[in-house]
Amino acid sequence: MIEELRKLKKLQAYDEQIYRREEELDALPEENAALEARIAEMEGKLTELRNGIALQQEEIRKRTEIVARGEEKLKAITGKQSAIRNKDEYNALLREIDNIKRFNKEVEEEAGEITREMEIRAQELKLVEEEHLAKIAECRQKLNENRKRIASLEREIEKMYEDRDKLTAGIRPAVLRKYERILESSSSGKAIAEADKYLCRGCNMTLPPQLYHNVLKAERIETCPNCQCILIPSESRRSEKEKKEPVIRDTTTEQHNDDD
Ligand SMILES: [Zn+2]
Repeated sequence: MIEELRKLKKLQAYDEQIYRREEELDALPEENAALEARIAEMEGKLTELRNGIALQQEEIRKRTEIVARGEEKLKAITGKQSAIRNKDEYNALLREIDNIKRFNKEVEEEAGEITREMEIRAQELKLVEEEHLAKIAECRQKLNENRKRIASLEREIEKMYEDRDKLTAGIRPAVLRKYERILESSSSGKAIAEADKYLCRGCNMTLPPQLYHNVLKAERIETCPNCQCILIPSESRRSEKEKKEPVIRDTTTEQHNDDD
């Protein structure tokens, strides 16, 4: 019986390693989603600023065109001056020239205003770029590392489950099922706990004396009433007990090496 418990202990140590990898694997997709959201947010801000600038450039371009058309018109009108026949026509021409000039001035002022806004935005873009571009690269690198880590964990876990069969050999199926049931419902990835000085070392609860003595005797599977772990005598308890009651040890089973 004590041999079976030792095998369970070894299996538990192995399963704990699987459990740790599975926990890491479970957490990674969420971490990646957070990284992707952060990248999208930073890139969104950059795109917003760049689009804003592009839009302003377009507005300035349109106004420059309008002003150029006005200038052409002015030139054309000035050329018509020789055809003027009377004062009314002359006044009308002056008004038209005046209107075009006033309109062009307004449009130029608008373009100037937009240019100033655009320059402020360009400065902001520069600052945001300085701040975000390095961070985006950092996030992308982390994302990449995480993706590689996921793939490697998946391979590792698969391999570990394959190798696990070696460790379950020699454990009775009913005991193994019980162990696995406890492991599945455990939130800590533990199904085995040592009992020492009347305490369950899994949850530190004091064990009823009778239960504790049964655990030391190791004649049947006992579980902690609090954390449900299968209780095994702590190694120090065992050696004390073995010192007190020397037993002839079966070296063929005691010393076989299942570390690999
Ligand atoms: Zn316990």
